[in-house]
Amino acid sequence: MMQEIRENVWFVEGKNRGKYPYSHSLYLTGENNVIIDTGAGSFFDKLSTATERVVLSHYHRDHVTYNYMFENAHFYMHREDAPGVESEDGFYRLSGLDQVEVETYWKMVKQQAFSATKIDWHLEEGLCLDTGEVNIKVLHLPGHTPGHCGFLVEECGLIFTTDIDLTRFGPWYGNPCSDLEQFRRSIERVRALKPEIVITGHRRPITKNIEQTIDRYKTVIDRRDEAIITALQKHPLTLEQLTDKNIFYPDHYNQAVLRFFEKNMMQKHLESLLKRGMAIKMENDFYEAL
Ligand SMILES: [Zn+2]
Ligand SMILES: [Zn+2]
Repeated sequence: MMQEIRENVWFVEGKNRGKYPYSHSLYLTGENNVIIDTGAGSFFDKLSTATERVVLSHYHRDHVTYNYMFENAHFYMHREDAPGVESEDGFYRLSGLDQVEVETYWKMVKQQAFSATKIDWHLEEGLCLDTGEVNIKVLHLPGHTPGHCGFLVEECGLIFTTDIDLTRFGPWYGNPCSDLEQFRRSIERVRALKPEIVITGHRRPITKNIEQTIDRYKTVIDRRDEAIITALQKHPLTLEQLTDKNIFYPDHYNQAVLRFFEKNMMQKHLESLLKRGMAIKMENDFYEAL
């Protein structure tokens, strides 16, 4: 399904309303058309021949799924994420997923295996991509992944924030390459730009109560901090024991992949709590609240 948000700016709704492992795309038309992310669905066939440039927000598989349909296009991506689509080794290095049952992971994203995409140009902060009708400005918004980018269409106050996805789950930083503090700053940056429309990778376009929605999303990080501190106040715990509490994935089905993400996110909170003097790590690897 495609919806014209403003002239030449199209919201391409992902399959299953863009829920993981699908994602929404943004299609910008003019003399040369641009698509941002290809996770929406396999209905791209009509678009694909008319698209000169494919811009990828980050390396995650739910945003690059249908790259193969854009045979004649040039691919754009931030330098820090490019290895994650260019080679399988690069993908595993950034995601850390070679440390878990990879078959379960590929099943989860409904893909057979890794398929590579060659990146022709690197995105960077401030770069402008012009369709002839619409001007798109690249915002480097790291945290979710190191090269994660958002896209600003200034004429209509629209930001495509991709996986600063403003879902109820909250910010996701479950890869070894994710960075919690950068994520916080990127959320603040989007808010400070005072967008009139926010499109994300995984929910309906947002036009109302944008600031509250962003604040609520960011507060999830603080609530996770509090849940960890509360657990540690009862008694000291190790990283493994804290991971067992399923603070991030309450409906955890004890799946290796989700547990791996849970543990990575827990680790990032613990590092942040230590840095802020809210917890300490003892010699026996137990964490204690201060
Ligand atoms: Zn992602
Ligand atoms: Zn996503």
